[in-house]
Amino acid sequence: MARRNIVKMGDPLLRKICKPVESYDAKLGQLLDDMKETLDDAEGLGLAAPQVGMLKRVCIVKYDDRLYELVNPVLVKSKGKCVDNEGCLSVVGFRGLVERPKAIDIEYFDRNGQKVQLHAEGYFARVFLHEMDHLDGILFADKMIKKLPD
Ligand code: ZN
Repeated sequence: MARRNIVKMGDPLLRKICKPVESYDAKLGQLLDDMKETLDDAEGLGLAAPQVGMLKRVCIVKYDDRLYELVNPVLVKSKGKCVDNEGCLSVVGFRGLVERPKAIDIEYFDRNGQKVQLHAEGYFARVFLHEMDHLDGILFADKMIKKLPD
């Protein structure tokens, strides 16, 4: 495993639309392992592949000591609205208040290509939505309604 460098806001890689994963192979496993090591080292809640310079629809979330590995995730349903504060490992120097759905249903594939369905609410849902935005080149800073100090 190897820790990878985290790309920072201003780098065009963070603005690209990522490509779907087509093969669930050892290379995907390696990317996920490296992303986990990078996330652990940075002590963040989530990390998306473009943040380590890979334009693939892959992201990971670490929440309540559980690791979620999402390949080709899609938002199936969302409900409600809530505002809370967010930061990003690619955004240095500030956080922001962002409005997001309160509850979501998502579908994704695990590293073996098995389909997973997941329901999430509150901040847990927010972390998934934040990471999934990265796959479409969107940063929380684009959506924030108020900038907050780091
Ligand atoms: Zn982020």
